[in-house]
Amino acid sequence: MPKTHLQHSEVRSWIKKNTYSIKPSKKFISRCIDGRYENAPDLPALAIPGGDAGQLAILFATANRHKIKLDYMKSWKAICKVVGGKQNIRFHTDSHAPKKKIAGGCGHIKLKSLNPKLYGLKTSQVTFIKKCCKEALSKHKFIQVKLNGDHKEGAVLTINGNYGVYPQFKGKQLFIVHLSLINSRHKELAKVLVKTKAVQLHAGQTVKYLHKALDETHGKHLMLTAKALANGLPIFNVTFKTRSSFKVEKAGKVA
Ligand SMILES: [Zn+2]
Repeated sequence: MPKTHLQHSEVRSWIKKNTYSIKPSKKFISRCIDGRYENAPDLPALAIPGGDAGQLAILFATANRHKIKLDYMKSWKAICKVVGGKQNIRFHTDSHAPKKKIAGGCGHIKLKSLNPKLYGLKTSQVTFIKKCCKEALSKHKFIQVKLNGDHKEGAVLTINGNYGVYPQFKGKQLFIVHLSLINSRHKELAKVLVKTKAVQLHAGQTVKYLHKALDETHGKHLMLTAKALANGLPIFNVTFKTRSSFKVEKAGKVA
């Protein structure tokens, strides 16, 4: 089905009518960039490719790229700690995927499984990510969210600022990436990783270095998945000053 591309004016009125505040205590709970999430009051604002399964992949790929030694289990525990406990871990599947397949309906995780190398990952790391998710899911059924229906995203929206944006409006959807929240979560994650000795940085590498490297890997993973799932869609950036005062800029298209 051809996708209808959203125009600048449509995205503006979308944001005007679909913005919500972020609870500070829940700001690090995540969702995927997928546009099929329902506009629920408790929808996590922090949209990142693959949710927390994608977060662990970002961490592994960062360590691989920068030759940083890392402990797999401690890394996963660091993510659990940052989100406020295992019950706050989030990833998703969908109504089309086989029931037993972990994150089977998440395009981002599927792409990583098919081509780990492209994402700078080892096959064993992808297996480990799924094992962690499966184990957490056995205790907390709700951490894997099931998305319904088909993809209808008409643009990619990146967010800077302290508000969330709902992904559905008038039968249309948006891929959403929350850059500010990803950045602050990476800052916290880098601190916890170093403190708990999940990573062993080289001389001269600091928490700040790790933080920046995590953001860079996120950018790479996002673009790889966007190319596969959102090719040709327009990209818009929104920067919030306040809830009602924001700037929307078109930033080309996914190519
Ligand atoms: Zn997904």
